[in-house]
Amino acid sequence: MKESPTTLLVIGGGPGGYVAAIRAARLGVRTTLVEGEALGGTCLNIGCIPSKALIHAAQAFEQARQWAEGSPLGVRVAQPSLDLAQTVRWKDGIVGRLTGGVASLLRKAGVRVIAGRATLVDGKTVDVRDANGEVQRLRCEHLLLAAGSRPIELPGLPFGGPVISSTEALSPADLPKRLVVVGAGYIGLELGIAYRKLGVEVAVVEATERVLPAYDEELTRPVLASLKRLGVVLHLGCSVQGLTDDGRALSVRSAMADEFALPADRVLVAVGRRPASDGWGLESLQLDMAGRAVRIDDQCRTSMRNVWAIGDLTGDPMLAHRAMAQGEMVAELISGAKRRWMPAAIPAICFTDPEVVVAGPSPADAEAAGIDAVHAHFPFSANGRAMTLESTEGFVRVVARRDNHLILGWQAVGHAVSELAAAFAQSIEMGARLEDVAGTIHAHPTLGEAVQEAAMRALGHALHV
Ligand code: FAD
Ligand code: NAD
Repeated sequence: MKESPTTLLVIGGGPGGYVAAIRAARLGVRTTLVEGEALGGTCLNIGCIPSKALIHAAQAFEQARQWAEGSPLGVRVAQPSLDLAQTVRWKDGIVGRLTGGVASLLRKAGVRVIAGRATLVDGKTVDVRDANGEVQRLRCEHLLLAAGSRPIELPGLPFGGPVISSTEALSPADLPKRLVVVGAGYIGLELGIAYRKLGVEVAVVEATERVLPAYDEELTRPVLASLKRLGVVLHLGCSVQGLTDDGRALSVRSAMADEFALPADRVLVAVGRRPASDGWGLESLQLDMAGRAVRIDDQCRTSMRNVWAIGDLTGDPMLAHRAMAQGEMVAELISGAKRRWMPAAIPAICFTDPEVVVAGPSPADAEAAGIDAVHAHFPFSANGRAMTLESTEGFVRVVARRDNHLILGWQAVGHAVSELAAAFAQSIEMGARLEDVAGTIHAHPTLGEAVQEAAMRALGHALHV
């Protein structure tokens, strides 16, 4: 068996692992990265990027179909059709460009990339088996665990055949007539809406009484209205029992304990993801765990010296930008810098129609934390740019301390509000007060003016409402 030493060994080439490797190598740390599947991880290959591509394609198709029925804008088009194979090729092209870019960045930074599956031997030794079954042993001073997460499987509904995860949903060979989505969280609603816009009959079964239960009700109300408008059928407060005997329907139990069969040609199970903490020898290190997640401190150190962990493997929030920021911090720590994990807020976006974005606490969160806070919202119905984009539903909401007006949180729902995440996170991270945002000249006409107006309204002097 070949043996080779390295200073930093990164397991996993997703956004956490590849960012850590690039940063560390650029800082002069001898770095090796092991990836068992494709560089870019879940995010680039089967997550963030392909899902946003499919959502965009579905929106374009839906728009064309609407225009074919008449458009207030005066646009006239004939009935559109969809070349699904081309849609998937286009999506794969974007994925290919991005993963190719990651490979090139790693190469230029001087990272040694090994394709193969890693198995931990101890905190400084890892065996990597390549596609030909050859095993090489790597030794390191620092071991960074960035193995990500996997979709949760429901006991009565194992993946296979018509029962799929987001991975298969993002590369369909054909479209089902009827799709049942289990779980009205991020994936269920992002992809459920996309499939509906592609012309599929979509029903969603959700265990709680609400869609997107992680967000507050006021924020999700426009999403609920949009689901109804699009014709997505919702079964809230329901549990799934499994496929019926003929495999052509999903057996569902309602909150009243009634059982019914929901016809389904395909079932997308999107009930969450769990850290990928088994199957590669992680157990043998006997690290402190938080459930299935690796427990880390505020420097992403695990309970074993010089063994670090980042990203989805360390639990919620399972977001690519969190993994990247953790990866960058660990690389800097290993190179000798002083860093600590203390973001003032980690923004989160749900790319539904309309989009939802949150950064920092909601009014209810602030109250639960015992903070005396003020909050105000500004509706897009009073925003000129929103009108020109034909989308006036939704609002921007700000939460700030009552005593000194320090901004604690922002929430927004509406068309394209994902792009407001930067302004939200920056204002919180920089310790902005309501007066700072209210006093900043915002360009006109933009959706961002709703951000300024929400701050002005919290101060009692909004202009346009
Ligand atoms: P991953 O990206 O999962 O990467 C881990 C890598 O480790 C994988 O490539 C895996 O092959 C490799 N690996 C694991 N074990 C081994 C081993 N033993 N040996 C070698 N290699 C190994 N987040 C957002 O912020 N925004 C979004 O819009 C968004 N959309 C999403 C949409 C979908 C459909 C899904 C599924 C997820 C989405 N996410 C989104 C979540 C995001 O993808 C993850 O938070 C992010 O990818 C986590 O990065 P990571 O580096 O921790 O792990
Ligand atoms: P999720 O946690 O967002 O939603 C899961 C939903 O399934 C919840 O509403 C939950 O109540 C419901 N549920 C759980 N068990 C159920 C059952 N047995 N029957 C019916 N409903 C059930 O999980 P997800 O949508 O699978 O996404 C996984 C993770 O991936 C997310 O938490 C997020 O971290 C990440 N992600 C992020 C984005 C983004 O940032 N835009 C997009 C997709 C995924």
